[in-house]
Amino acid sequence: MGYDYQSPWFREALKVEDKLEINQLNSKETADICIVGGGYTGLWTALKIKEKNASTKITIIEKDLCGSGASGRNGGCMIPLSSKFTAMKKIVGTKDAIKMVKASEEALNEINKFCDVNDLDAKIRINGIVYSATNNKHRGGFDDLLRDLNDNNLNSWERLSKEKIQKLTGSNRNIDGYFSPIGGSLQPALLARGLKRIAEKKGIKIFEHSAMSSYDYNTMITVHTAHGSVKCKKLILAINAWTPSFLSFLSRSVILVSSDMIISEPINNELEKLNLNNGLVVLDSNLFTHYYRSTPDGRIMLGKGGNTFSFNNKVIPSFDGPSTIEKFLKKSLLKFFPSLQNTKIIQSWNGPSERTKTGFPFFGYHPKNNNIIYGFGYSGNGILPTYVGGEILSSMALDEKNEWTNSNFCKGPIKLFPPEPFRWIGAMIIRNAVRRKENAEQEERGPSWIDKKLAKLATSVGRVDRIKD
Ligand SMILES: Cc1cc2nc3c(=O)[nH]c(=O)nc-3n(C[C@H](O)[C@H](O)[C@H](O)COP(=O)(O)OP(=O)(O)OC[C@H]3O[C@@H](n4cnc5c(N)ncnc54)[C@H](O)[C@@H]3O)c2cc1C
Repeated sequence: MGYDYQSPWFREALKVEDKLEINQLNSKETADICIVGGGYTGLWTALKIKEKNASTKITIIEKDLCGSGASGRNGGCMIPLSSKFTAMKKIVGTKDAIKMVKASEEALNEINKFCDVNDLDAKIRINGIVYSATNNKHRGGFDDLLRDLNDNNLNSWERLSKEKIQKLTGSNRNIDGYFSPIGGSLQPALLARGLKRIAEKKGIKIFEHSAMSSYDYNTMITVHTAHGSVKCKKLILAINAWTPSFLSFLSRSVILVSSDMIISEPINNELEKLNLNNGLVVLDSNLFTHYYRSTPDGRIMLGKGGNTFSFNNKVIPSFDGPSTIEKFLKKSLLKFFPSLQNTKIIQSWNGPSERTKTGFPFFGYHPKNNNIIYGFGYSGNGILPTYVGGEILSSMALDEKNEWTNSNFCKGPIKLFPPEPFRWIGAMIIRNAVRRKENAEQEERGPSWIDKKLAKLATSVGRVDRIKD
């Protein structure tokens, strides 16, 4: 078995495993709970259920290898949901929004603690987050949000002077910005593969190379794969970008769009000079944001969301290949760090992010069977929120009546996109308008009236809080 995966994190994580043993489902299994999908959501949910009720029989089935989806290929930037607070509050109410923001922040320490206790080295570095402004239009973008967070005793952000921001982020392109200590970075695939190892140790059965082909339900639920089946009382679908393919009633709840990334060769000396030899995550204020961070072995990674939109929410083959905007990303890296002119980019990759109209995830029950549960829609920001997702889905699966199961996050999708072909056509028109508007802002020109109007519609696929005319 070769390690034929585009994500460098995933290849790295597989290499450090003693032996890749794949347990394929070739039998008829029974379980209390079957979880489909072996990414962070599925694995955290399984671990949470075991923690709450150790005797529950749990089986996870994964179509490829655990972590081969978004969880093993993301940017590794741990970002809580505080930047979405104002928008979230308007949609789910203040109480639920406070709970979600706090839980996503607590997830940082919880994940770190979990890794410590379970001897899982996911290369976690907690050095905070910066949201920067790279042009005058983006200055002060968090001021209203900070007021709102302060009013609710939630604020961890501080606006820094230009000098401080530039020193902290290593780039003169950043002319203003906000810092929060609650954030950092990790090696995403090491976390996913480590969670799999620990889940198995705790008695959770995991089958890989075992895609769910269909499921049916009567008194019990049966999940079918090519060579086996799992009969269960509860089914949790933790299949992220693939959810609309199995739950057609959710087809208008998300839009699948790529997040694209590049990573450099090791450049320890340059990172030292740039003051970037730590786990800080930096994001600019574009709607489809640029984000960058370094790695403990001295590489720099830069990513950007919002390039390839798939028609009809299909997980298309290009999501598993190199980035189609590798050259553009390299140019962006040089705009932040002109001194890296001679630095080699050793790899690009991408993957599908499921953006919801609200910009945050949702959870729900199958309309025809309450024992079938789902959760997704992390909108490109899932490392910390999937930990919260595990807590929520475990509560739903165990029929707990608590603040999560009673919350507006557990009522399915709150806002819908238009049906195809309007969704895809609309997404392309809006994406291009956003690009023109952001280019104009970067060049300190006024964007056209129509691009401003169109870009405003994109609040539905981005971080709603940060859009200003
Ligand atoms: C390129 C990229 C960069 C990102 N960067 C960041 C970042 O820097 N910070 C951040 O916080 N978030 C980031 N995200 C988002 C984050 O990675 C996700 O929100 C998170 O990993 C979602 O976890 P999940 O378990 O829900 O989904 P996944 O990890 O995608 O897991 C779903 C699993 O379901 C499996 N599956 C699908 N269909 C079937 C089937 N029929 N049968 C069995 N199994 C099936 C898949 O193989 C997959 O392993 C990024 C996402 C992408 C794509």
